Amino acid sequence: MRKKIVAGNWKMNTTLPEGLQLAKEVNEALAARTPKCGVIICVPFTHLAPIANEINAEKLGLGAENCADHRSGAYTGEVSAPMVASTGAQYVILGHSERRQYYGETSETLKEKVALALENNLTPIFCIGEVLEEREAGKHFEVVKAQIEEALFNLSAEDFSKLILAYEPVWAIGTGKTATDDQAQEIHAYIRGVIADKYGKEVAENTSILYGGSCKPSNAKALFAKPDVDGGLIGGASLKCADFMGIVDAWN
Ligand code: PEP
Repeated sequence: MRKKIVAGNWKMNTTLPEGLQLAKEVNEALAARTPKCGVIICVPFTHLAPIANEINAEKLGLGAENCADHRSGAYTGEVSAPMVASTGAQYVILGHSERRQYYGETSETLKEKVALALENNLTPIFCIGEVLEEREAGKHFEVVKAQIEEALFNLSAEDFSKLILAYEPVWAIGTGKTATDDQAQEIHAYIRGVIADKYGKEVAENTSILYGGSCKPSNAKALFAKPDVDGGLIGGASLKCADFMGIVDAWN
């Protein structure tokens, strides 16, 4: 059975003291619950090690928001997958649309990042999704298929099975516009079909596919009720403990 997951993406928000405070709040809120899903927070690099020291890893997973496409060396300012892993983090978001859009990430670089993440026992939360013009032109299916094929289909079935996917329509990220639960279900089922065609039904059925894009406590339940939506990647609403927990509780 594939895992149900709610993962936060803090993006470039919170100073270290603010981030530590938020992580402690989430950690405490989880200590008082038995969540029906896995819960992960993905935080700025600077916050990883201090947060790892404060949280109960049994109940709260920790991830980075990116990693370098090289193992080590003369890449000033970059943070490698081994460095991320050495903080105690277990996850890394890769291919977020903001990185594709603002930092020119391509499928080629993402292929390297995925390989390095896996080599360092980090679980990639791999993001795919179309921009508004592509959705309006009815190209969203072919766009997400190409993103998956180009960056991931070099993987063995064993390695592919280690991934978490996140479908995030770019027009819904941070805009307050959410895909409807039917739109999410339609494309999640399609993505699962693309995986099944390449790796077989069992791998496809075991892959967690999260929805991301203005997911909040008020719409999470309807989205998560869809059979192919296995949880959410949460941006804005992960920055307030009560909102994030409201989404975690949508699985109850
Ligand atoms: C995201 O950045 O992954 C995201 C889904 O953001 P938001 O929830 O703010 O739309």
